[in-house]
Amino acid sequence: MRESPGELNGGGATPPHALFIPSAGMGHLMPTFRVIAGLSRQGIDVSVVTVLPAVSAAETNYFNGLFADYPTIGRVDMHLLPLDASEFRNEDPFFLRWEALRRSVVHLLGPIIASASPPITAIITDITLTSCVIPIAKELRLPCHVLFPTAATMLAVNAYFPIYLDMAVPAAAAGVVGDVDVPGVFRVPRCSLPPPLLDVNKLFTKQFIENSREITKADGVLVNTFDAVEPAPLAALRGGRIVPGYPPVYTIGPLKPHVIPKAGEKTAAQGRDGSPSLVDEWLGQQPARSVVYVSFGNRSAARLDQIREIAAGLEASGHRFLWVLKTTKVDREDDAELADVLGGGYLERVQGRGGLVTKGWVEQEALLKHPAMGMFLSHGGWNSALEAACAGVPLLVWPQLGDHRVNAMAAVRAGIGAWAEHWGWDGDGDGEESLVTGEEIAEKVKDVMADAALRESVAVARLEAAKAVAEGGTSYRNMREFVGKIKQGA
Ligand code: UDP
Ligand code: UDP
Repeated sequence: MRESPGELNGGGATPPHALFIPSAGMGHLMPTFRVIAGLSRQGIDVSVVTVLPAVSAAETNYFNGLFADYPTIGRVDMHLLPLDASEFRNEDPFFLRWEALRRSVVHLLGPIIASASPPITAIITDITLTSCVIPIAKELRLPCHVLFPTAATMLAVNAYFPIYLDMAVPAAAAGVVGDVDVPGVFRVPRCSLPPPLLDVNKLFTKQFIENSREITKADGVLVNTFDAVEPAPLAALRGGRIVPGYPPVYTIGPLKPHVIPKAGEKTAAQGRDGSPSLVDEWLGQQPARSVVYVSFGNRSAARLDQIREIAAGLEASGHRFLWVLKTTKVDREDDAELADVLGGGYLERVQGRGGLVTKGWVEQEALLKHPAMGMFLSHGGWNSALEAACAGVPLLVWPQLGDHRVNAMAAVRAGIGAWAEHWGWDGDGDGEESLVTGEEIAEKVKDVMADAALRESVAVARLEAAKAVAEGGTSYRNMREFVGKIKQGA
């Protein structure tokens, strides 16, 4: 394949060569890319299974960027086997992608490993592929670690969910999901669970349960979090209170960004191509802590009437704002014009009062560190939450789907954000009753911008995050231990 970096495992016969099998969706890929880059920087020979075609344009750009920035990383293309989507009705495009990936991996991963040179000595995969990858790794006697791309609180839910279903509670036994009281963590009300979990016959739920059961056979679980921000679920997982004998949980966050800024870039809020960015120019002109940043991640798209209410709310808040607007789940399909979506005159009107709306991809992690950032109205994706905490920017979490309500509970508990608890989300229907009005949005934004206590507790979390990754910190030590295992092929 390529030259190996030498005999890093103490002069042993086989040099370490880690194979990553990533999933899909930027929330899964961002932490994966960051771990890949981290291992590569430590001199470990790394290869990455690259699935073709990618599901979104952002994924293609980031895969290409990774291989350009880290030329020693090996790329192993895997052409996805066709999936008959008519088998599945109304499934989310990302869930379908995971299913296609899972089926492809079962057939294609063995031959990929067999033809790798130097030989593969360790496997790292994503939670969504766990139940397909671990049996292959076990058969080949290769150590396998799983990257869990979101909060440890959600990992605790993930670990406990099959146990909850197996319990002799009649409703659970009949497949009816109620509140889930995760030992040592908290009770997650039914209405805050990822909505597909409420139906045990859903494709996502079947995948989720299979993966939760199989992860117990992993050699370790990597989580992009740090001990001080989520102590309770980590203690419960590590102490075997949720699943006795659960694999070691390596908290290794907040993970360092992997993108290497190009020469001449002012901030990484610019495009990867180094082109001058409107966002970058604009942010530079805003006063310190004055901007409300609004983004709902890479795969949550609000409906049109809700978008109009958000627009009205941001304008009525009286604060400056930067809004990254998405109108479709998959970015390639997003061909709507902002002016049509927001109504005539909106963009010009807010521009004069310090409002900027963009549809493009932004380098969010860097952007959050800009001194002009005042708060982040976010969907509650855990990568976003940690990026905000590291930058000392308070969150206002408005969950949209999936694990976002569990993450919101974790964020409030950690003192890094407020949660708009009564605002609707995926599954609440399209009716007017589920619409959050512009007035409500404006009020909450004003409250969080004025919340000095929250700002203070986020500042503490920011320091804790820095401590965790500094030499001797919890995440630093865990990363060293994990790297040591990979070097020894353990
Ligand atoms: N992201 C970004 N620019 C964008 C949108 C998203 O850099 O325009 C990054 C964001 O910084 C985060 C990831 O994509 O690292 C999204 O992950 P998260 O867990 O926050 O949410 P998800 O998109 O999975 O719902
Ligand atoms: N998840 C999981 N097992 C799976 C698939 C997903 O534990 O097999 C987790 C995933 O990491 C996330 C949650 O379930 O915490 C909801 O997944 P979704 O894709 O809806 O959210 P996203 O990952 O995009 O934030």
